[in-house]
Amino acid sequence: MAARVAIVGCGATGSALAALLARAGIGTLRIIDRDYVEPSNLQRQSLFDEADAAESLPKAIAAVRKISAFNSQIVVEPHVDDLVPANVETLLQGMDLILDGTDNFETRYLINDYAVERSIPWIYSAAVGSYGVTLNVVPGQTACLSCIFPDSPRGMVETCETSGILNSAVNLVASITATEALKFLVARVDSPTLRRTLLSFDLWTNDRAEISAAEPRPGCRACGDRDFIHLKGEGRPHITLCGRNSVQIHERQRPIDFAEMDRRLQPHGRVRHNDFVLKFWHEPYEMTLFPDGRAIIKGTTDTAVARSLYARYVGS
Ligand SMILES: [Zn+2]
Repeated sequence: MAARVAIVGCGATGSALAALLARAGIGTLRIIDRDYVEPSNLQRQSLFDEADAAESLPKAIAAVRKISAFNSQIVVEPHVDDLVPANVETLLQGMDLILDGTDNFETRYLINDYAVERSIPWIYSAAVGSYGVTLNVVPGQTACLSCIFPDSPRGMVETCETSGILNSAVNLVASITATEALKFLVARVDSPTLRRTLLSFDLWTNDRAEISAAEPRPGCRACGDRDFIHLKGEGRPHITLCGRNSVQIHERQRPIDFAEMDRRLQPHGRVRHNDFVLKFWHEPYEMTLFPDGRAIIKGTTDTAVARSLYARYVGS
């Protein structure tokens, strides 16, 4: 009950982690997610249902509603936000443990830098296709993410969008991660049962591999040299591709009055909004706007097209 755990990303793995840990009675769960529920998520994102998708509810909000229906005794904080260097301190401070439910290396390196710098344990988890992988990072003891992967994978990287995902692979990786989280929270970091390896498996082929992560790698940029380039946000783009034929724009904070914006956009296409998101359909594009001015534009992977659409209808 006294534990405070952050879950960054509440898609497939994040949903499963949140459900397990909320039912286990973790006192405070902070759920951070930038996205909204879509029908195609439901095959694997176990906290959500068709009504959430019909409403385009932000995942963090939908997650909190679901959890409060089965455990009203814990505190669950939703944060509809993209974790970036500018807000990482606000969003992750005060947590005993950070769990990775993200789908990208950029955010994972940011978590790793923050966690190593502040000496907060975190657990890396990922699932794609029928493959899952997880690593416990205990700063000052074990290897960190940058020890094992000094650079993010380049070139063609399989994603859930391109190669699909087996929902049981998600649940397995989440079960292992949630168990390691409980070991950490009840037995602390010296627990001999806490896994000190990078564990990966493929549920379809039955391949399983484990490499030692018991010791930091000498010369590691993050935990060795303490050069936290991701925390500084060096070279970080303000417009990013975010899977499934969409572009995210988060160039500046711009509070949006949804009622006003709804009226302004009416002549240009179909508009709908609730307290959390405004959706605007302008063929062949679909723009989802959040109250802080962040937008996800679907229907293109061209950042110039997305930027011009945003400038034309929201403001430059
Ligand atoms: Zn390291």
